[in-house]
Amino acid sequence: MRLVLLGPPGAGKGTQARALATLWGIPQVSSGDLLRTVVREDSELGREAASYMDRGQLVPDELVLKLIDERLRKKDARKGFILDGFPRNVMQAEALAKGLDKAGLKLDKAVAVIVPDEEIVKRISGRRTCAKCNAMYHVAFEPPKKPGVCDKCGGELYQREDDAEETVRERLKVFAEATRPLLDYYGRLGLLEQVDGVGRTDDVEKRILSAVNGVAPPPN
Ligand code: ADP
Ligand code: ADP
Ligand code: ZN
Repeated sequence: MRLVLLGPPGAGKGTQARALATLWGIPQVSSGDLLRTVVREDSELGREAASYMDRGQLVPDELVLKLIDERLRKKDARKGFILDGFPRNVMQAEALAKGLDKAGLKLDKAVAVIVPDEEIVKRISGRRTCAKCNAMYHVAFEPPKKPGVCDKCGGELYQREDDAEETVRERLKVFAEATRPLLDYYGRLGLLEQVDGVGRTDDVEKRILSAVNGVAPPPN
């Protein structure tokens, strides 16, 4: 299964990608997580990436494409992958298609997770992220068993700096301008499925599973 999850910030892409990755035994590949890892290394490149992320702008394609290319070449991605947060504009989508084509591969589906703006603001304002394993929680909707501590790895939960209200507004604008055109792009290729992202996490997961029905391997 080679799947792209599309959707605005806070739609639940990461949450769903993690669940599906576990179900299918293929990696979740999150451009945001890859970028945050580079930022933590505190290099020149990391500082450059952070300067875009802190403002809610897209990081230049060249850096993102390099990180994704390296990640998709790893052995665990041979059986398939779930891309979360990438591609984010048409240029990235075209680069992805070209790279896959060179390897004789293609995407199976692009699933757009649809969530209205009011719900997004609620989700992002309560989001907490594990500093160690990148799992996400929500203070009201998906609280950890112990406040501030990751259920899965015991890591510390933090609030992302770019989840501040003003930056979220900018990210929603960037989504509308740069990323939403990908719905048409994948629609024209016959790869697009749209899924309602409102409701319980496992109900959303079921909707995604039925949208990719016939492509996905049976759960093991
Ligand atoms: P969310 O899903 O909440 O928007 P992400 O973790 O996917 O968060 O992205 C956080 C930030 O990382 C984005 O606002 C952007 O600055 C940068 N980023 C992530 N993925 C990409 C990408 N594919 N292209 C450019 N910038 C990206
Ligand atoms: P994205 O990767 O699209 O930015 P996340 O998966 O990080 O989104 O989810 C954003 C926030 O919303 C997180 O705090 C997460 O726990 C919460 N969340 C995810 N799915 C749902 C859902 N179906 N209902 C309520 N909250 C959700
Ligand atoms: Zn953790």
